[in-house]
Amino acid sequence: MSAPTLPDLAATSPADLTRAVCDVPSVSGDERALADAVETALRALDHLEVLRDGETVVARTHLGRPSRVVVAGHLDTVPIKDNLPTWLETRDGADGSAQEVLCGRGTVDMKGGVAVALHLAATVTDPVVDVTWVFYDHEEVDASLNGLGRVARTHPDWLAADFAILAEPTAGNVEGGCNGTLRVEVTTTGRTAHSARAWRGHNAVHDLAPVLSALAAHESETVTVDGLDYREGLNAVGISGGIATNMIPDRAGVTVNFRFAPSRTPEQAEQYVRDVLAGIDHLTITVVDSAAGARPGLDHPVARAFVDAAAATGAGVGPKYGWTDVARFSALGVPAVNFGPGDPNLAHADDEHCPTAQIASVATALGEWLRGVGPASPDGAAGAEGVDGTAAAETDLSVNETATTEERTA
Ligand SMILES: [Zn+2]
Repeated sequence: MSAPTLPDLAATSPADLTRAVCDVPSVSGDERALADAVETALRALDHLEVLRDGETVVARTHLGRPSRVVVAGHLDTVPIKDNLPTWLETRDGADGSAQEVLCGRGTVDMKGGVAVALHLAATVTDPVVDVTWVFYDHEEVDASLNGLGRVARTHPDWLAADFAILAEPTAGNVEGGCNGTLRVEVTTTGRTAHSARAWRGHNAVHDLAPVLSALAAHESETVTVDGLDYREGLNAVGISGGIATNMIPDRAGVTVNFRFAPSRTPEQAEQYVRDVLAGIDHLTITVVDSAAGARPGLDHPVARAFVDAAAATGAGVGPKYGWTDVARFSALGVPAVNFGPGDPNLAHADDEHCPTAQIASVATALGEWLRGVGPASPDGAAGAEGVDGTAAAETDLSVNETATTEERTA
């Protein structure tokens, strides 16, 4: 069997290219054939330097521009559920009008974004910023395998940039930064006794009552970070206790999850939880795991210009509530946003499908911004073909609820 190849990246529309990329199956751990096809297609382009690490392919310009932008997407998908090869259908859109949709595994998460990046890598040969295109492996599985994380360890210079765009599905909206997450185990310790002589023991389950009351009464904050509003959440997500139905339990525990704004460190988040539970006796609080959030970094001029350009095409701008790979860029000191075609609520669904027009519009917005012909170009100057010849209006960064879908949890 001959190795799969991709059609001409420049001559094929982003939607048709999405179809071709989807039809090279690449479930996590099985990305090699697609990575090979991507590498071959990119090596044919004279204006790009192409690098490879495992099944991750990186291609970048060296134009000596003052800023560099990373555009990244993962090549892998969750397992196929009788939904490949892809097919086209006509369905009713949100506004009731008929629209063409591409159906099948990867059409949302996230081969539309990958195809947009491949098409622009080939066609935007003279961008106003230097661009690093990253196509990586193992995003849909355990974080220790993540190709982006691996490259950050082995070749951090490949990811160096002023700003990063992850083309994950956001339905064409800009989702910046993400909340952090902290999980703690709150345990109480009592003394066992036969329940017929309960006064000889001390009930650890009863000691959880004030913990649950404090959590139930707690009102989470909304914290504004770099212009975006992050809603926090502090919740009991599990409870355990009890030995036998005739015994006073000597141990009980509640698992607490705190989703915290990216302005807090995990250490500050832990202190926040301790403060909420301060004054309750007999508690032991243990951190089980935590992951820092990511600031959206939208105060950086390059990021700011991207948001203006996307907003001018009608994109909403809001925070990301799930934890995503933007946090990996944040850890490298690179502000990052998600921007890609596909409704994130359909990611991993058996009925995964994406309007072809959305793939096209994301490609247009990103391509014009990189070429500097949109209303705001990445080098900060108003583009040559701004909307109605005017500079981009100041973007309202207030939360757009439609832009804040949860893609996944940590
Ligand atoms: Zn994804």
